[in-house]
Amino acid sequence: MSEHNRVIVIGAGIGGLTVGALLARKGYSVSIVESRAYPGGCAATFERQGYRFDAGATVGCGFHKNGPLALLGEDLGIAWPVMTCPAAWDFIQGDRSIHLSHSRQEILAQFPDSRLFWDEQDRIASLLWSLAGDTLPWPPAGLSELDVLFRKLIRKAPSLAPMMPLVNKSALQWLREHGLDSDSDFVRFIDAQLLISVQTTSEHANALNAAIALDLPSKGTHRLTGGIGSVSEKLAEAVESAGGRLIYNRSVENLERKGRRVVSLNTSDGARHPADIVVANLTPDSLRLLFDPHASGANRIKKGPKSGWSAFVLYLGVEESVFREGDAGHVQIVAGSGDLGEGNSIFVSVSPSDDSLRAPEGFRAVTVSTHTRPEKWFEAKERGDGAYEELKASYTKKVMSLISQHFENMEGRIAVMSAATPVTWERYTGRSFGYVGGYAQTSLFGVRGPGTPFRNLFLAGDSVFPGQSLPGVVTSSRRVAALVERKYGPRSKK
Ligand SMILES: Cc1cc2nc3c(=O)[nH]c(=O)nc-3n(C[C@H](O)[C@H](O)[C@H](O)COP(=O)(O)OP(=O)(O)OC[C@H]3O[C@@H](n4cnc5c(N)ncnc54)[C@H](O)[C@@H]3O)c2cc1C
Repeated sequence: MSEHNRVIVIGAGIGGLTVGALLARKGYSVSIVESRAYPGGCAATFERQGYRFDAGATVGCGFHKNGPLALLGEDLGIAWPVMTCPAAWDFIQGDRSIHLSHSRQEILAQFPDSRLFWDEQDRIASLLWSLAGDTLPWPPAGLSELDVLFRKLIRKAPSLAPMMPLVNKSALQWLREHGLDSDSDFVRFIDAQLLISVQTTSEHANALNAAIALDLPSKGTHRLTGGIGSVSEKLAEAVESAGGRLIYNRSVENLERKGRRVVSLNTSDGARHPADIVVANLTPDSLRLLFDPHASGANRIKKGPKSGWSAFVLYLGVEESVFREGDAGHVQIVAGSGDLGEGNSIFVSVSPSDDSLRAPEGFRAVTVSTHTRPEKWFEAKERGDGAYEELKASYTKKVMSLISQHFENMEGRIAVMSAATPVTWERYTGRSFGYVGGYAQTSLFGVRGPGTPFRNLFLAGDSVFPGQSLPGVVTSSRRVAALVERKYGPRSKK
């Protein structure tokens, strides 16, 4: 193995796999260590009782022409098993139902005063997608990225100008400029869209983050044959076909360092893996736990946000007869009042009827999620199994009652049911406190880049700007691969 060639990636989520596949193609010797028996993390599909359930992510975003996933597929020679969806999802609140598709027709029919807002959103989002395709290294990790950022910004200056007025605004302030902030129905509709994409509502969401998030339905979404996990399965194949290695069922338990370099990783099977470059597909808090707490530098890895979201998710095997022909594959159901999340808004994803890989004949695999704060779940667990199971039962009841508003007869036709709570997410993904879904996108400043206080240790995944979702994570992971290559140069394997 040539010098400085050994890359170890901790975690085979979309972030770790993307960096691993790109570097393996550039001649680096890549090993990816993954705790679970399969790849994907929050975007995995797992098998249970004859079903393939999407664990967290369900909507295929970023596969549109020139989208981050489409470009990654071209670079890695991957033909994604995707089909365009006629609509992204349906929004349901009481009697209000909006089919969110390429065209904004239904939104405009229900909120005619919002036309100028959507025109502006469309213009801003197009500029932002082109910046995402160009992988802006924000915030720069060191001088080399500062130089790249500066040159790209000079080139992009004309397209940046229209965005400047929104840089420091919240989405609600932006709505106010269009006289829409007093339309409580419109604000609730926007808030529900923002919560599932930028992890916060219009009052706190940054307007530019909101502009690109609100663009997802019009850019178009895709369904993946076999479930969303097919993305990570394809990426894992790309790693291996470029000569990289995936090591499943092993957890990285700690990192050894020498000065400001990580020199090796120790895994749960007692093995020691020397490394020249380490990529941690982890949240910053989970990465900190891998260091001896007294190690100099470890405490300088900036902590994650003080509070964040986790998810309560139900996995259901449901009789086919519950669903009508023409139903959208994804439905967002929102209660008329109450804070969003915590069972007051749910996202329901139903496997397509013609995907025989997902469910036994006559049934569908359904994933239902709602945002929840993790604290109460860990407190209940601490109090004992009784308290924890009681909390689980109360969330299940609340979620099922909201589902029944749209799928009237589902409750009696469920063959299989299981639930994931923040406690499950922590155990399953190794993410401290079960924080999933990424950080709340409240500002473009104070966000995190891939750099760490250790020269050869980089962060990847949805904690790194531009954050969560498949397109977000692929965008930041490309940047990590480019940063490594700029620092260490192209490699040739011996
Ligand atoms: C409920 C939910 C719904 C979502 N819906 C969508 C959606 O519809 N569309 C969309 O685009 N995005 C969606 N997202 C967001 C998206 O899933 C994530 O942003 C993305 O998958 C995160 O990828 P990642 O690589 O950053 O991290 P992760 O997926 O967390 O991957 C990290 C990996 O590292 C492994 N690991 C952790 N610690 C160790 C260790 N010590 N040793 C070895 N391995 C380790 C974990 O097992 C895991 O496989 C959703 C997320 C959730 C939770």
